[in-house]
Amino acid sequence: MQRSEIFELLSIPHEELRLQADLMRKKVLGDHVNVRALIEFSNFCICNCRYCGLRRANTHLRRYCISCEELMQAVDAAVSAGTDTIVLQSGENPAQPAEQIAEYVRRIKTRHPHMAVTLSVGERSREEYALWKAAGADRFLIKHETANPRLYADLHPGRSLRERLRALEDLADLGYVVGSGFIVGVPGQSIEDIVEDILLVQDLKVGMCGVGPFVPQADTPFSGQQRGSVPLTLRIMSILRLALPSVHLPATTALATLDPVQGQCDGLRAGGNVLMPSFTPEAYRKDYRIYDNKKRVGINDAIAAIKAAGRTCSLTEEKEMS
Ligand code: SF4
Repeated sequence: MQRSEIFELLSIPHEELRLQADLMRKKVLGDHVNVRALIEFSNFCICNCRYCGLRRANTHLRRYCISCEELMQAVDAAVSAGTDTIVLQSGENPAQPAEQIAEYVRRIKTRHPHMAVTLSVGERSREEYALWKAAGADRFLIKHETANPRLYADLHPGRSLRERLRALEDLADLGYVVGSGFIVGVPGQSIEDIVEDILLVQDLKVGMCGVGPFVPQADTPFSGQQRGSVPLTLRIMSILRLALPSVHLPATTALATLDPVQGQCDGLRAGGNVLMPSFTPEAYRKDYRIYDNKKRVGINDAIAAIKAAGRTCSLTEEKEMS
């Protein structure tokens, strides 16, 4: 898709765009919604991203790292519930040995060989990414965040877009299915930036793209800033579906946070085909506070959104875990 086509799609009536995207999703991927179990295993982070409550400078957060036993219990619950992927997510924490993460992956793959494992643990060396791939990891999520190098540097003190793109390249080279993404409405972003984000995601040929509206967090420099727009986020999801017909596109938790009743259903109707309910152990959930009032999307919420959107999945209510 060319830059001019993206601008054109940004101005056509929303329902017209949504219908085009929904048709494309149905034709290419069918009605099945992939349900991926998100386990936020640690909230330690050395980065200071200005929009994120896990940032290093936030001292109002109880930091945690769950034990391997707790992790495996959460994995077992996710498998019993009928999810198809385990997503292990944490802040960026080089103090956590790469071997420990490799061991998590090996344990999951040994106990549940059919489950895909996705890692989302930030920028690490190529050697560490290779170690986790050899341990059995299938996919890696690391958002490019913004294609505007100046905005990237402003949002991520001490970091550069070049380094982030290096990580994405390394991961693709090593054979991971790579997921990227960006935030809609983060302070300082223009509509032109978003168009460049869509073009970059196209160039990267990612397997998944997570796009959610900006939600402020009280303990960050962006406390009190205006939230991102849900309608614009849905519009961008639809454009991504048309630009990358087979990409996996989650209806994000941020959508559910800003619109708890309809957000995820609308995301599925706008071209989305993935939901990521949380299987993070209850005792830690409130401490994975990347933004405020984060909705806990559980299995029943996922099923409700899928039913409301008229779609299918491998989950059943009987399998709901507490
Ligand atoms: S966005 Fe990720 S890397 Fe940045 S502070 Fe939050 S958890 Fe850390």
